[in-house]
Amino acid sequence: MLAVTFFFDCRRKDDIHTFAFETMGTQASGTVYVWDRTRDRLPGDLVHATYDSIETALSSWRETSEIGRLNAAPADTTIEVSRGLSECLRVSEGFRQLSGGAFDPTAEPLMRLWGFYRREGRLPTQAQIDSARALMGRYEHDPFRRTVRKLDAGTRFDLGGIAKGYAVDRAVANLIALGISSAMIDLGGNLFCLGLPEGRDAWRVGIRDPLDRDQLFATVGLVNQAVATSGSYERFVEIDGRRYGHIMNPATGRPAEGLLSATVVARSATVADGLSTTLFVLGPEAAAALLRDHYRNVEAVLVLPGTGKVEARVVATPGLRGDLELRAEYRGRYSLEFLDF
Ligand code: ADP
Ligand code: MG
Repeated sequence: MLAVTFFFDCRRKDDIHTFAFETMGTQASGTVYVWDRTRDRLPGDLVHATYDSIETALSSWRETSEIGRLNAAPADTTIEVSRGLSECLRVSEGFRQLSGGAFDPTAEPLMRLWGFYRREGRLPTQAQIDSARALMGRYEHDPFRRTVRKLDAGTRFDLGGIAKGYAVDRAVANLIALGISSAMIDLGGNLFCLGLPEGRDAWRVGIRDPLDRDQLFATVGLVNQAVATSGSYERFVEIDGRRYGHIMNPATGRPAEGLLSATVVARSATVADGLSTTLFVLGPEAAAALLRDHYRNVEAVLVLPGTGKVEARVVATPGLRGDLELRAEYRGRYSLEFLDF
């Protein structure tokens, strides 16, 4: 019996390939269960190369990236862009349209103004906020020709709200092409669960507690699905002892407030990433309305500040009924309710 178990353990270890590294300003990791060992490329190396190439194109932090060059470009010149950049813009524009401008790929001037690129907060004046807002959305993008033309030299792009999800989708496509049928990859909280983990009926994934980021407050089961969470607790600047989160509300020009976090489960990691940021900007009521009117095919978990009796309120889409569970230590402390549509 012992020998059999031992043998079994050996075999399992040999079949699992795990990896972890840093890229795109965050942590990446993955577990690959079933893969064709005869290929000469390790799955982790393939994922790493995928992320690195996307960072080279889409990072707003690097002046030499494609985005960096587009941001420095003058107005009224037509610039050819890569497939990745064009695709991220196209999806971003969809979110912008459906959310009434809550998601905007040109929030860069606001991010800069609040000090997020210097990692040193600064309280802007209303006049500064107004001028930064006036630069937003001033460009034309042709997704068929893959060209961008800025209408104002000061218009600048920040794809931080969607690029990690896009990178995950590209990595998943590359893993599938390598013959992999069971894997879970995580890029800074943007996850994709491919197929099934050995011997189980879903990947069980924990959702981070926005009030205590080392803890997971709930779990969901995923199969061939992506999940992403947006929260202001992830990155913030401190100004006069107050914390300001890194997700901007374009309507006010100030960091978005209202939700503690927004989690989205979708078939695509790009959608999960972009939509979780969008919901976070919208706040509880408008987020629920957007989900009801336009995103019946995704699931979402919104965490709101608590009222009196509970520390936080968890509000989820009806499709998660029977799957989303508060972990034992959160029952009673957090309330859980499902939207009704
Ligand atoms: P994280 O980067 O922690 O995964 P998100 O996916 O929610 O979180 O993305 C937040 C990032 O999106 C910000 O750091 C910034 O780069 C960008 N961003 C900020 N405000 C907006 C906005 N209103 N619309 C689109 N992107 C935004
Ligand atoms: Mg996002």
